Amino acid sequence: DEAKEEGLRWKEFDPAKLKDAAWKLSLLGRIDSAIDSGEMWVAYQPKLDLATRRIIGAEALVRWSHPEKGEISPAEFIPAAEQANRIEKLTAHVLDDAVRAAAAINGRGVDFDIAVNLSARLLDGTDIVDQIRDLLAKHRLPANKLTLEVTESAAMVSSNQSFEVLEQLRAVGVNIAIDDYGTGFSTLEYLKKIPATEIKIDRGFVRMIDRSHSDKLMVNSTIQLAHSLGRKVVAEGVESEEILEALAAMGCDDAQGYLIGRPMKLRALIKQLILEYRKIAA
Ligand code: C2E
Ligand code: MG
Ligand code: MG
Ligand code: MG
Repeated sequence: DEAKEEGLRWKEFDPAKLKDAAWKLSLLGRIDSAIDSGEMWVAYQPKLDLATRRIIGAEALVRWSHPEKGEISPAEFIPAAEQANRIEKLTAHVLDDAVRAAAAINGRGVDFDIAVNLSARLLDGTDIVDQIRDLLAKHRLPANKLTLEVTESAAMVSSNQSFEVLEQLRAVGVNIAIDDYGTGFSTLEYLKKIPATEIKIDRGFVRMIDRSHSDKLMVNSTIQLAHSLGRKVVAEGVESEEILEALAAMGCDDAQGYLIGRPMKLRALIKQLILEYRKIAA
């Protein structure tokens, strides 16, 4: 028994975990300087309108090109940044880049929406509402060209405060999307109440719809349900033509995924847009 206990204790003392914690801590200490130095930059992943088959916007996804560690995934540093209260500055950086980009593209006469991911944590206070309003004014972007993506989380489901902030953001005129829909805590009650204009179906459901009948049924009924509640539906993680066609046949509004385009530098996205416009003009 003692040996067993000893074993347990050794299990808890996991040097890999300690290393991981030290690594996260060292990352946290560098977030601010990474933003200022340009190591932290914003990639844009195109979004396709399934009815017209045109690129109608993009999602901003933060990237960290670390000089020693290479590309670090946001899945790794976003949760840490949230816990350490480093998320405000990071979000402000992404928002500014994204709204500036969308304003420049719309300024060229191209209808273009921009989506930015927002940590549920930022909905704790109302600062975000003023911040968004100021940002739209600064870059002269119409509010309806901006979508804020929020992941369903335990905090969101239980908090009236965050719903109120979302309502205030809606009053400013921006769109609200529920990100990774289907993986979180949402109930029908939540879906009815949350002031969202759009639902993004998680890649986990989308990627199997050509092979799994039940996944197809779930995606299909989610689209019907969202539409009957007056919400738009975006499918994440579209990697094949078969899946794209299946989604179009089900009446899904927009699609995102590697098939349409990977997250890329703004310049590359603008190139893709110009090529598409040439094709349409020809
Ligand atoms: P998300 O918002 O659900 O973004 C979609 C993720 O799926 C992105 O990963 C994207 O690169 C990836 N993806 C898109 N299409 C495909 C596909 O066809 N196949 C596969 N396998 N993957 C695809 P990424 O860029 O690593 O971002 C991960 C998550 O980090 C995001 O998930 C989002 O929750 C968070 N994140 C990224 N940027 C920000 C940010 O600026 N602020 C906040 N708060 N969170 C962010
Ligand atoms: Mg997202
Ligand atoms: Mg998502
Ligand atoms: Mg997802």
